[in-house]
Amino acid sequence: MTYTVLSLFPELIDAFFALSILGKAVNRGLLRYRSVNIRDFALDKHKTCDDAPYGGGAGMLMMAEPVGRALASLGIPNRLDPPVAAVPKPKPRVIYLSPSGRPFTQEKAKGLAEEAELILLCGRYEGLDQRIIDGYVDEEISIGDYVLSSGEVAALVLIDATYRLVEAVITPASLEEESFSGGLLEYPQYTRPEQYGMLKVPEVLLSGHHENIRQWRLRKRIEKTLALRPDLIHQGEEAGLFDRETRTIIVELRNSGAG
Ligand code: SAM
Repeated sequence: MTYTVLSLFPELIDAFFALSILGKAVNRGLLRYRSVNIRDFALDKHKTCDDAPYGGGAGMLMMAEPVGRALASLGIPNRLDPPVAAVPKPKPRVIYLSPSGRPFTQEKAKGLAEEAELILLCGRYEGLDQRIIDGYVDEEISIGDYVLSSGEVAALVLIDATYRLVEAVITPASLEEESFSGGLLEYPQYTRPEQYGMLKVPEVLLSGHHENIRQWRLRKRIEKTLALRPDLIHQGEEAGLFDRETRTIIVELRNSGAG
């Protein structure tokens, strides 16, 4: 997977790619990263990339030309330009991080992790000139119903949620019973010491009995999801996601007053 990030502040993203598991995955050749500074494609000597919106209104807008030129430098065609007779090559997916986009979810992250390349477009100011969205963007993605001041933070969220799902970056077992897998949140976890203040690690986890541990964890996942995210349980039920064991525990817990 290659992440290509277009930004007015690529240093923000560069630092993230240098560290931790992500940095190691890049060094191991499992991921590639390139950043493009949109300012390098400005047309004037002051490197201007923003201007006032037509029709008036507060704030500035990112100008179409520098962004379009930055995308063209990556070989991304403007779909509104007259077609040129060239051999079509697979085009990477161009994503604009935007509060107007479709909400980002774990399911979406899984799908994007299978792409060969993602081109992430980070907005600033009041966002992008609409002609860039119309001409180049395949998809707008929002990381939540709130307005950030920058697309870089949103791009980092998307990168962080997707890179760990790319094959071989982390061990598949770590992803198996995570929150959202199978429509449930994760079970509570404990590490040493066995006794922390007044609180002891649940006995079953010390028992070494794998089947009892599995059952305890499943019950805890369901309890937690019913308490914190009953919407996920409803969605899972509607999608027929749960096996008989899970359904039985849901009924039991509901009868006892949970969710
Ligand atoms: N004027 C825009 C609006 O009202 O929808 C908000 C622009 S915001 C101040 C600047 C940039 O931050 C956007 O262009 C986008 O790239 C990014 N951004 C803000 N909120 C976001 C969100 N919830 N998800 C993804 N990106 C976001």
